[in-house]
Amino acid sequence: MSDRNPNEPGANRRDGPRLPPSAPGLPQPETWALRVVEATEIAPRVRRLSFTGPDLARFGYVAGQDLMFLIPTAAEPVRRRYTIRRFDRARVVVDVDFVIHGDGPAARWAAGAEPGAEIEAVGPRGKVVLEPEVDWHLFAGDESAIPATFAMVEALDAGVPALAFLEVDGPLDEQPTGAVVADLRLRWLHRGDAEPGTTTLLHDALAVAELPPGAGYAYLNGELQTVKALKATLAARGFAPDRMSAKGYWSVGRPNATHGEPAADA
Ligand SMILES: Cc1cc2nc3c(=O)[nH]c(=O)nc-3n(C[C@H](O)[C@H](O)[C@H](O)COP(=O)(O)OP(=O)(O)OC[C@H]3O[C@@H](n4cnc5c(N)ncnc54)[C@H](O)[C@@H]3O)c2cc1C
Repeated sequence: MSDRNPNEPGANRRDGPRLPPSAPGLPQPETWALRVVEATEIAPRVRRLSFTGPDLARFGYVAGQDLMFLIPTAAEPVRRRYTIRRFDRARVVVDVDFVIHGDGPAARWAAGAEPGAEIEAVGPRGKVVLEPEVDWHLFAGDESAIPATFAMVEALDAGVPALAFLEVDGPLDEQPTGAVVADLRLRWLHRGDAEPGTTTLLHDALAVAELPPGAGYAYLNGELQTVKALKATLAARGFAPDRMSAKGYWSVGRPNATHGEPAADA
């Protein structure tokens, strides 16, 4: 374990053990009974829900990991995954930022959740965390990827080069990061009236982006087909497959499957 203050910005911060992504010992997922303590509109289409829970004081996670919520519906609950935006150990509160995209059980639940609302979640989940053995980091995605991008960027050490390309509707949807000590170059891309997941903005930006020298690692998260196209774009630029993590978070026109990710045939 590091003896650095785990809440110090840029201490490659992990509210749990410091482990490389390939380590078999990422924190074990548990089921948590959560209660909303605060609901905040942090952008026109993003609602932050802050949760606490009776056992949450012993919660631990690595930046980039997520929680799988059991979203109530009229029938069986559905599973939906959301990134842990941050965990405030002093207040015992975990923040999760939900894109309110207008359709889907999770978006509907999050849009209506007020303080006092109760829900179960399983986590921490996910193996996509900061790759420790590289010189620089590249992040790209849509609104759904902002929590993972910012959580990981905020955990980078001082001066580490990081490039982030984030597609949102427009200027009002740009979010501030928390404390960042990495050398972050953040570029917002505005889709305007286009539907999310339908533009080539991210692809066009990555195709010509000036990349730092040395070995980089790319984290590509968001709409499934967009993420696949970004992976191909970086491969064409010489990125090796083991220098990229490409994860479809959602799929245009298709609900996620019961395990909370896009269906295998999406
Ligand atoms: C590991 C992981 C981490 C994630 N982290 C986050 C996060 O921190 N914040 C976040 O908001 N999302 C995050 N997501 C994505 C989120 O789980 C999906 O968007 C999910 O589909 C939402 O569930 P739903 O029930 O609202 O919609 P679904 O029932 O899955 O889908 C219903 C309809 O809504 C559309 N839709 C779904 N998501 C979006 C979207 N983002 N924009 C536009 N249309 C959409 C679908 O195309 C479909 O037509 C993450 C996903 C994964 C796998």
